[in-house]
Amino acid sequence: MRMLEENNFNSDLDDIINALDENIDRSELKKKLEEYLSYGVPLDQAKNTLIKQYGGTPIESQKKNLKDVQVNDRGLNLVCRVISINPKEIEVKGEKRKIFYGFLGDETATRTFTSWKDFEINKGDVIQITNAYSREWQKEPQINLSESTDITQLDPSTIESVVRSPATAKIIDLRGGMGNVEVTARLLSLEEKIVTARGKEKKIYSGLMGDTTGKIPFTSWKDFGLNENDVLTVTNGYIKSWRGAPQLVFDENSQVEKLDSDKLPPEKIGTPLISISVLIERGGGVDMMVEGTVLEVLKSSGFIYRCPDCNRVLRNGICGIHGEVLGVPDLRIKVILDDGTGSLTALFNRELTEQILGMTLDECKTTAEEAMNYAIIEHKIIECMAARPLQVTGDAFSDEFGLTFLVRNVHFVSLDIQKEANELLKELEE
Ligand SMILES: [Zn+2]
Repeated sequence: MRMLEENNFNSDLDDIINALDENIDRSELKKKLEEYLSYGVPLDQAKNTLIKQYGGTPIESQKKNLKDVQVNDRGLNLVCRVISINPKEIEVKGEKRKIFYGFLGDETATRTFTSWKDFEINKGDVIQITNAYSREWQKEPQINLSESTDITQLDPSTIESVVRSPATAKIIDLRGGMGNVEVTARLLSLEEKIVTARGKEKKIYSGLMGDTTGKIPFTSWKDFGLNENDVLTVTNGYIKSWRGAPQLVFDENSQVEKLDSDKLPPEKIGTPLISISVLIERGGGVDMMVEGTVLEVLKSSGFIYRCPDCNRVLRNGICGIHGEVLGVPDLRIKVILDDGTGSLTALFNRELTEQILGMTLDECKTTAEEAMNYAIIEHKIIECMAARPLQVTGDAFSDEFGLTFLVRNVHFVSLDIQKEANELLKELEE
């Protein structure tokens, strides 16, 4: 109590006066503050009670709303609900590091976040964030929690409801772990399937949906009377990861509204070019397009034999599962493709390999046998592809080994761009 008597509360009184528009008598304010404290009211609460009494905005709520966060804000104080959180292993200067990413929400907006430290926060937590910063991510501010950020757990009722995550999310922005998403898309393909769930047979509906930003596989656990080419708004769906890539799921908790079909005509359905880093961050996707330079043609490209039973590539005529078998000849190419933002493994099947080499499988076999060297095909591939800039479309999936891109279409990018790419390659090598 002695400390309290000696305290003149100067900075606290300043806080209160600064939060008020009108001029308040300082000594009167001091008297009231001391009175509250003598009743055992905590200092911060007493200050805010006084501010409210004089018609000011309490200091606590001078925290920023998510919708007001700009790119490159520093010293951000926020109160948010953790909508989703996922761990992710990244490499920083050759060292493996675990970070976390997901979505935060409050009554005004939802934003992506990255946490560079394990704050032991979970989905559904309401947290007070002190001293975070923001940076730009896909043209929107992203909240970053760093070593110097403080997190305090609050009562979950502090935020009753989070504004619906991005009013209408674009397909390219969907990520595994997101909940409560609203997507407007065109139904590009539809399949019915009977599955057994909890011992009961259930009909599910799956296929592909698309909007102007991309395509996404979906599964519906309820019969919404879907038809191919419907244009739909799905509300309260959620995003699961399948082989690393996002997939839209909706069920009896979701709503499906059919829109006019010309709201999203087929020619507006996009396959936009995205950076490899975004594809990696997304975990993959269906019908994606990336550009990059071939940094390396991987061994095991070229003329190969596959197991007739399991399709695995044989090593010296031996399948890892089935032992010595009569191999089926095949062609494939595996390369590391890099666009400066990240790299992936791109896989080309027999048809594409034939197209790239300008040789059929039979011609490759004859050439290799005449040279008595199967590696000759691999060398030809290196000649065709090393350091070449490519644009590829196809499906991408990820696992613990990284991102694999199954190429469906390949386009060799023009020579001017190749020059640029060669310079990039030089830079990378240095
Ligand atoms: Zn086999």
